[in-house]
This record gives sequence, C-alpha cells and structure tokens, in this order.
Amino acid sequence: MDDYEVDYSDVEGRKAECPEGCGMCCLCQPEVLPEERLFFRENHHKDLVKSRTADPYFALALKKGRGSCVFLNGRRCGIYNKRPAYCRQFPYHIYVGDRVKVELDLSCRGVWTGRGNDAREEATQIVKAADGRIRDAIKEASSVYKQFYHNCRDAGVMSDQVVLRSSVSDNLAGFTDLSYLGAVMDASQMEPVMTLDGLHKNTAPDMAELEEAARSAAAESMATNDPLSAPIYCDREWNWNMFMVNESEGNVEWNVMDDEGDMIFKGESKIDSIQIKPLSPDAGKVLEDYIKVLNGRDSLMGNVFSLMDYNEYEDDMANAYYGCISTAALDLMWRASMLDHFIGVGTGAEAMKEAIIFYDMDRLDAPAIGAFV
Ligand code: SF4
Ligand code: SF4
Repeated sequence: MDDYEVDYSDVEGRKAECPEGCGMCCLCQPEVLPEERLFFRENHHKDLVKSRTADPYFALALKKGRGSCVFLNGRRCGIYNKRPAYCRQFPYHIYVGDRVKVELDLSCRGVWTGRGNDAREEATQIVKAADGRIRDAIKEASSVYKQFYHNCRDAGVMSDQVVLRSSVSDNLAGFTDLSYLGAVMDASQMEPVMTLDGLHKNTAPDMAELEEAARSAAAESMATNDPLSAPIYCDREWNWNMFMVNESEGNVEWNVMDDEGDMIFKGESKIDSIQIKPLSPDAGKVLEDYIKVLNGRDSLMGNVFSLMDYNEYEDDMANAYYGCISTAALDLMWRASMLDHFIGVGTGAEAMKEAIIFYDMDRLDAPAIGAFV
C-alpha cells in the first residue's frame, strides 16, 4: 500500500500533559493487542480478561469488574513501561475513514491546561507506532466507505461534505443560539434537502420541543444501570462522577466511583426538572469553538453516515449532518445545566468547558462507519 496522509489539524498548536491524580482514562478498559498478550499471560495471567462488549477483545481487568484498571494504584499506573498501546495513545484517537485523522479527546483534562508536550509531536509518534493497524483499517474502511457512497447516490441523498462543513463554519455562532437551533431542527425534519443559506432564526422557538430534544440526546448516552457503560465526568477535584438515567422512572442518578471500584451515591433528580439555562456570551464562545472542532472531525461525519445507514438512507446527508451538529449543541447546553444542578459549575464559560469535558468521550464513542485504531 502507498503511504497514506494523516490530518493532524485537530492537534496542531496544542499541548497535552497528564496531571497527577486524574486516572480518568484508566476507567476505559484498554484493549490488549495480540503482540502484548504474552507479557500479561506470563506475568499477570488473572488480569487479562475478555471485554464485556458486543465484539469481545482481550483487555485488562477492572477493579470489582467495573471500576478502574487493576493496575491503577494511587492514581498511578503500576506497569507504566509495559502499559498497552491503547493507554499510550490517550488522549489521541486515530480515526480511519476515507482518510486518516488524529482527533484529540477533550474529555482529558490534560489537554485544557495549555502545558505539557507538543501534541503534534506526540501524535506523530503514536501514528508511527500504530502504522500496521492503520494500514489494516484503511483496507477495511475503504470498502465500507465505497459502499456507503454508492448507497447514498442510489438513494439520491448525497451532499458535498466540503459544502456542509463550510456552511457550518460560516454559521458557527448560530449553533450556540436556541432560536437558530430551533430553525435548523425544523428544517432538518421538514425540508427534503435543507440548506443553511438564508436560514433565519426561529423567532418563537418551541422551547418545550428543544428541551425535549436536548434531554433525550443527553439521556440516551446516560441510559444505563451498568457503571461500565456510563459516561464518566472527571471533575475539577478529580472525582470520577457517573450520571445514570433510569428512563422508566424519569430520574437521573449521580454517583462517584471511588478508587476501589465502589459507587458512592450522591443524589438524584427528576430528569425533566433540569432545564437549559441561557448561555452567557463567554459560554457561547466556548461552545462555538467546540462546534468548530466537531465540524472538522471525521469521526462525527462517520457517525452521521452510520445514522444514515441505520435509517436506510431516508434523510439527505445535509439534513443528517446539520441535525447531528444541532443535537450535539443542545445536548451540551443541557449537560452544562445538569452539572450546575448537581455540582454547581455555574452558567458561564467554565460550565460549558466542564460540559465538553463530560461530553467529548461520548461523542468520540458514537457509532461510526469508520474505525478508531
Ligand atoms: S484522562 Fe488525560 S489527564 Fe487523565 S489520566 Fe488520562 S491522559 Fe492523564
Ligand atoms: S495499564 Fe496503566 S495506564 Fe493502562 S489503564 Fe491500566 S493503570 Fe491505566
């Protein structure tokens, strides 16, 4: 295979460090690659397990089967020099779709401090180490993407991705405004092929409908009673918070996972008692910057494609794309309110930053037609 190009734009000019006391990514049960298994088989036989995922893989055991990795002690890795490749990669994710792109995980607090190592240099080393896996994934992804584009053309729902991205880019501030989001959501449901050109804010947005869309997007990812699948939010004091939604009771329950894998109950509320709070201009700016990141992410485009395929190519690509970005913005607004409700993060820029830290790992975890390697 010829050399492939890698898009590093997500990490360009950024820094990343791993502040002491975090350990959040050690809750993610890292996969152990075939070439890494021998070390664990010979030295830590009991700590190598099959993951409980639909497509099982070998992984490191978790404390009590649900907490952090068994090798995490005092929030430090006990096998640092032998840690699996997936641990070394964090907070970089290599997405292979119809090209290769490095995406930065904004749930890692170490990428927000402005200190640490040059992210571009670290990402380059990580790509180099993952070369074999990337080449295998390119082969697989290229046939999946070819089939997807073929299906889109057949169904007449193809749009130009460059145009979609530049339209969002030209309207970034709109995606932080509820009136504009209301108009985008309406158009994505009503117009056969929507466009952002000339789209006006909805002067009387149906707030109940927007609240419902925001709540259900956020609740969908928290709808579990299994701590293993619950999204983690590592807060400013390094607590590992888990919010789990019980859909039948309409509750959201807040727990903190301790270092031994025990859950400490902290509180619960009716999910519909938490409502979106108006964004201050500085919170809007933080959200705008994040929408810009999402708009550049191939994994988000891959998620839109996966949804289109799931919905049997009923929606035009433009509707699916703008709808997905709008839903992400609403989800974030709701999560910021939820974090303020439980933890008291306020309603300004800091609140939106915390909502992004909570949300981004979920975002990167969304199903996509390409793959992270
Ligand atoms: S999430 Fe980031 S800061 Fe936290 S332990 Fe992992 S790499 Fe370090
Ligand atoms: S091996 Fe080390 S770095 Fe990897 S998840 Fe376990 S404790 Fe964390």
